[in-house]
Amino acid sequence: MSGTAKLQELFSTAGVSGRPELYKVTGEDAVRSALDQQATGFTVYIHVPFCRVRCGYCDFNTYVNGFGAGADRESYHDSACKELALAAKFLGENKLVPPPASSVYFGGGTPTMLSVKALGVILEEVARTWGIKPGAEISTEANPDTITDQVAQDLAASGFTRVSLGMQSAVPQVLATLERTHCPENLPQAVAALRRAGIAVSLDLIYGTPGESLTDWEASLRAALDLEVDHISAYSLVVEPGTKMHALVERGKLPPVDPDSQAEKYQLADTLLSAAGFEWYEISNWARRLDAEKLPSRNIPDATFLANASRHNLAYWRDWNWWGIGPGAHSHFGQVRWWNRKHPRGYAGSVAAGDLPVQDGEVVTAASRELERIMLGLRTASGVKHLTPEEGTRLSRLVEMGYLQPEAADQGQALLTLRGRLMADYVTGELLGW
Ligand code: SF4
Repeated sequence: MSGTAKLQELFSTAGVSGRPELYKVTGEDAVRSALDQQATGFTVYIHVPFCRVRCGYCDFNTYVNGFGAGADRESYHDSACKELALAAKFLGENKLVPPPASSVYFGGGTPTMLSVKALGVILEEVARTWGIKPGAEISTEANPDTITDQVAQDLAASGFTRVSLGMQSAVPQVLATLERTHCPENLPQAVAALRRAGIAVSLDLIYGTPGESLTDWEASLRAALDLEVDHISAYSLVVEPGTKMHALVERGKLPPVDPDSQAEKYQLADTLLSAAGFEWYEISNWARRLDAEKLPSRNIPDATFLANASRHNLAYWRDWNWWGIGPGAHSHFGQVRWWNRKHPRGYAGSVAAGDLPVQDGEVVTAASRELERIMLGLRTASGVKHLTPEEGTRLSRLVEMGYLQPEAADQGQALLTLRGRLMADYVTGELLGW
């Protein structure tokens, strides 16, 4: 069965076709829509599956080499544009015309392995295909070594508003264990170049690398804070099976990740970031607080810090619809989820033949949707509202255990405490009565 036929079958089974009410975007302002918990909008993710080297801990769908026409760094943008055109045709045939995209996010891999011109071509195709809302967040991930003044200015000229730099650590031996190639000394100039170009900067950090001490982690956090960015993500290292790092841990060449040390590092991150004026808005994400006067949407209560939040990620956590472009990319419309062919060569072959590169997908059951609603909502500082009566009866026990905030629970809302953030999966299971 072709990819397009597979997706059509899923849309028909779920009854998604011809239901424009799937999008409930309020207002024209993309910032406001992303912050409004009642809205449901549309976002676009572009996967760029290339990296300079393969880091030993990484299990993302990314490759060092190219695979010929449409599947190498020089021509990948052609394939992405073809998928965009096929996606728009498919949705049009299903009488679904999404609202203009509230955000576009280029992830990877390392998107800046493509030229800025190629990234701009893909972005223009998104604008031509679905439109992009005024004030939309246009982000790309980038390796600090790839950002020069010229690249930063070209990104701004192409419409990018935000860059997420993969800092990971400020400690050379930690970067060496992660097999990250960037040079920590290049980070300040990359941040400065982006700032000069008027682009917002986020830093991605990883804690828990084998051999990283608490002092190392503190040094990384302080180095990130010294750069005075408005957004910091801190992810706990997960040693995924199948990675080189996993093999080294299995063979005893590297120590395993210690959960107690991870918890200590998370708490240190929250302490230092909070003291520096950041607010957590998702378990792994902190945004700098703004003055109330500078807020884009003053009548939305949680906007005091969300103005600096990643609006694209908020869309995921709030269950918006998105189309993921590229090899292995995942997409979500209503109750339908699907994912693309993983290898760039197969992906490029599908789109060149005029077929959507869909590998497989599923119609999500009501129980799975409720699980996602609780799991994703709990991760955020908005928590979960509108619990079912059964879920509501389980709040008090979780408050007693110190995992949920009592004031929010009194209002029928599940909102994690700092201790609860370390136990989010457990709290999800308990709320669902597992
Ligand atoms: S640069 Fe990022 S995406 Fe690429 S291999 Fe390393 S960790 Fe994975």
